[in-house]
Amino acid sequence: MIKNKKVKITIIGSGPSALILASELNNEIFDINIFEKGNSPGRKFLVAGYGGFNLTHSEPPEIFIQKYDPVEFIKPYFNHFNNFDTRKWFENIGIKTFIGSSKRIYPEKGIKPNQVLETILKKIKDNKGIFHFNYEWIDFDENFYPVFLNKNKRIIVESDIVIFALGGGSWKITGSDGKWLDIFKKYNIETLDFEPSNCALKVDWEKDFLDKFEGKPVKNIAVFSDNKYVKGEFVITNTGVEGGVIYAHAGNVRKQLKTNKKAKLFIDLIPIKTKEEIIKLISGFRSNKSRTGSLQKVFNLDDIKIALLKQNTSKQEFYNDEKLAEKIKKLPLNISGMATLDEAISTVGGLSLKAVDKNLKIKKLPFHYAIGEMLDWDAPTGGYLLQASFSMGNFLAHQLNQLK
Ligand SMILES: Cc1cc2nc3c(=O)[nH]c(=O)nc-3n(C[C@H](O)[C@H](O)[C@H](O)COP(=O)(O)OP(=O)(O)OC[C@H]3O[C@@H](n4cnc5c(N)ncnc54)[C@H](O)[C@@H]3O)c2cc1C
Repeated sequence: MIKNKKVKITIIGSGPSALILASELNNEIFDINIFEKGNSPGRKFLVAGYGGFNLTHSEPPEIFIQKYDPVEFIKPYFNHFNNFDTRKWFENIGIKTFIGSSKRIYPEKGIKPNQVLETILKKIKDNKGIFHFNYEWIDFDENFYPVFLNKNKRIIVESDIVIFALGGGSWKITGSDGKWLDIFKKYNIETLDFEPSNCALKVDWEKDFLDKFEGKPVKNIAVFSDNKYVKGEFVITNTGVEGGVIYAHAGNVRKQLKTNKKAKLFIDLIPIKTKEEIIKLISGFRSNKSRTGSLQKVFNLDDIKIALLKQNTSKQEFYNDEKLAEKIKKLPLNISGMATLDEAISTVGGLSLKAVDKNLKIKKLPFHYAIGEMLDWDAPTGGYLLQASFSMGNFLAHQLNQLK
């Protein structure tokens, strides 16, 4: 580094990963400039805000980290700045948080998403970070300085360090449109096409079923696939199913669809009871009572659960105690597709993990780094997505702050 001269740092993108990075860089070492193609910062962050604003989760870090795929990629960044650090960070800038009944962490009631964003922007301003809006990164020049398009003009920004924080490829309206993928491809940097994650799944419901149950929740169940078993609830929609327990399986469904063109999840209609307990209770049903009525009464199964059960159970199975218990614990849900990329809460694909080293530096570029959802990792909803961006942004700021 050149003595007595500040290092020019160019951050491209203004999502949460960029914002936390810009807040934490040492302004005595760096000139901090943030370039954003839109005309305001953090638009997807605000969308997340108005959708519930689940900043992170309160579970122990050793359990939290297991939610990522691949775990080993996120681990060093998360170990540097974990879910408890995120909570402290927000409290320190004046955003109080609380732990909801789901153990997720949110800004305190009454604090609007805009207020959270404004508070972070104030921290960046105090840290002498400068925003430049309507600057779309479109290429590099011969020195690998970023080239932007601003009001139809090509502008080259001389930089000592460039950090990409360009986001994934869903909710294009927020600016995160993934168009940058082609630029990296042009320079032979490893990329993967975007695919939806954390998205609704398609089910070909019968018309009668939809007439009765569209928009209704299926509560107190668990949904499972391969290695994942997730308790909660989901909602019946006119194209399929959606909700946290569904989103969690998007990765497994994506893999199944690729190999078989169709996919299957399973519903555990009574997670609090084992199959053996259920068989025992069914065998105690009175033979002079309706079996459906007994199921409703003994297991508290509502109309929607009974309808789902009957759709997937032959008459013979329904009247066989063991087979019925099996179906209650492992009811197939046939998935015919996934929501479109743009509808997904997050995406996988983007910049391959092979393209960066452990410090998040892009191996094939001289002074360029990448952070946030633009990299090819996956996580369920529940605060894990934002946490990964906070962890990477904070990690990189602290790594760079050591360059004196
Ligand atoms: C509906 C919805 C709800 C969500 N709710 C939650 C939640 O409650 N909890 C949670 O943890 N996560 C949630 N998420 C996910 C979370 O918002 C994202 O994972 C997070 O915003 C990713 O941050 P990022 O900094 O990587 O990128 P982004 O926030 O996507 O920001 C990328 C920025 O880069 C800019 N950009 C892109 N290309 C260029 C270019 N060529 N030149 C200049 N700028 C460019 C974009 O305009 C954008 O501002 C939600 C997402 C959605 C869509």
